[in-house]
Amino acid sequence: MVVRKSHPMTDSSPRPRRMPKPTPETQHFWDGTREGELRLQRCDACSGAYFPPRPFCPACGSRDVRIEVASGRGLLHAFVINQRPGPGFDAPHSVAVVELEEGPRMMTNIVECEQSLDDLVIDMPVEVVFEQLDDDITLPLFRPTTKPAGGAS
Ligand SMILES: [Zn+2]
Repeated sequence: MVVRKSHPMTDSSPRPRRMPKPTPETQHFWDGTREGELRLQRCDACSGAYFPPRPFCPACGSRDVRIEVASGRGLLHAFVINQRPGPGFDAPHSVAVVELEEGPRMMTNIVECEQSLDDLVIDMPVEVVFEQLDDDITLPLFRPTTKPAGGAS
């Protein structure tokens, strides 16, 4: 078995996660998660929200786009459960697609619940939680929503 060591790792983590690398286009996103914000971009031309970050609207091509903070709420759109441990994960763990309230979908992990078909249900409401990995990267993860959906916050 080949173990790739493409990133610096700490001694305390025998199976480090693959770390996302901020780019100029995604820097605002990682700045946001570090501050506890989930940042999307919205196009002023067609008013669509989108993710992942890019300097133009994927729907209409306009560069008239701005950054906005998402509510952090969404629905579990799809998931797979990995029964084998992965880098930085124990098994089983889920890899999920969450559809945000604003529309865009995001690859993530569902945490704070059993990684089983009993506990992960398509369309269940989820909310973002932030997990700091290092000084640069704080990952947005999602957990089942604890408050009733639609409640004021
Ligand atoms: Zn647009």
